[in-house]
Amino acid sequence: MSTEDMMKFMKNNGFVLFTVVAVIVGIILGFCLRDYQMNFRQIKYFSFPGELLMRMLQMLVMPLIISSLVTGMAALDSKASGKMGLRAVIYYTTTTVLAVIIGIIMVLIIHPGGGGKEMMHREGKIEEVHSADAFMDLVRYAPIGILFLIAGKIVEMEDMTVVGGQLGMYTITVIVGLLIHALIVLPLLYFFITHKNPFVFIGGLVQALVTALGTSSSSATLPITFRCLEDKIGLDKRITRFVLPVGATINMDGTALYEALAAIFIAQVNNFELNFGQILTISITATAASIGAAGIPQAGLVTMVIVLTSVGLPTDDITLIIAVDWFLDRLRTMTNVLGDSLGAGIVEHLSRQELQKMDAEAGNSVIEEKEMKKPYQLIRQDSENEKPMDSETKM
Ligand code: ASP
Repeated sequence: MSTEDMMKFMKNNGFVLFTVVAVIVGIILGFCLRDYQMNFRQIKYFSFPGELLMRMLQMLVMPLIISSLVTGMAALDSKASGKMGLRAVIYYTTTTVLAVIIGIIMVLIIHPGGGGKEMMHREGKIEEVHSADAFMDLVRYAPIGILFLIAGKIVEMEDMTVVGGQLGMYTITVIVGLLIHALIVLPLLYFFITHKNPFVFIGGLVQALVTALGTSSSSATLPITFRCLEDKIGLDKRITRFVLPVGATINMDGTALYEALAAIFIAQVNNFELNFGQILTISITATAASIGAAGIPQAGLVTMVIVLTSVGLPTDDITLIIAVDWFLDRLRTMTNVLGDSLGAGIVEHLSRQELQKMDAEAGNSVIEEKEMKKPYQLIRQDSENEKPMDSETKM
């Protein structure tokens, strides 16, 4: 590899490498600093640079969603946008339902909630507001880093011993479910529809996935997702601008899988036998709850209440799974971002005829415009040629 190749590689992938290294350093730093037993306030100060990044990304989201939707829709005619919208909705519904089914199958097979909840750790803490928080609010516009987001979270993490037994099994069940959906089901769907290698596509998405892991927010990741899809993977901007903002808001496969799985886990620890009708209710409400959840950290935990109340499960038991939710949230956010991105790739593939037609029409109109200009130019040239003659005649 020549120095030139190396430079080129770093230019193309330097930012991705930097982000991945930041995650690794963040994990190591977080575990090293755990021995110092920092108090809540010190942890808050330590996580501050991470919070800055989060706020900066969140600040970009609303203008980005609105402007990209407007430019995306303006670039498409109403017939094309209707067709593409329909394809996107069919993809979102299919993948969300598949995710819910995987979640339910996994939790029923692994049965992590067997043995009751008496021995389980319950969590419930309320943050205290301090005057320094007001000061930190002043500088929350500036970007710093994923490193501090991750390290701060690891330092803050409760004693790892609570993550034993049922909670450990629950965590593993969620991870296995998410892996099956993200690395088998979604790539297969992409492959069958587009006949392209899904892992090449996923390779171009690494930076968005790592940002999702760091921020736990698919909305905050949106600016990076756009960049990966448009600049690295080369998807048509008319598609990404139209499909991605909607996907980031309503299409959350990871959240749907997790909500169905967690609700059944809570039923299992309560020794609550669920019949088929109740499982169906959980699947429907988990789908709705994932659509309703915002793309922000731990939003899925909040909309879980809908799923639990739909089958009469105790909402208090959400506190049983809070200890591991910060971690599972990161993984389901990655799955959400992956689902939205593969969806954009699939919709682009299915819409290529419309896009080509629009390109051809745009090309024609350019040619027509040129054709229209030609006679005009000829007339102008003629009249310009005539001028001296006119003047000569006048003279
Ligand atoms: N944090 C997730 C997201 O932003 C939502 C969730 O809590 O499941 O996509």
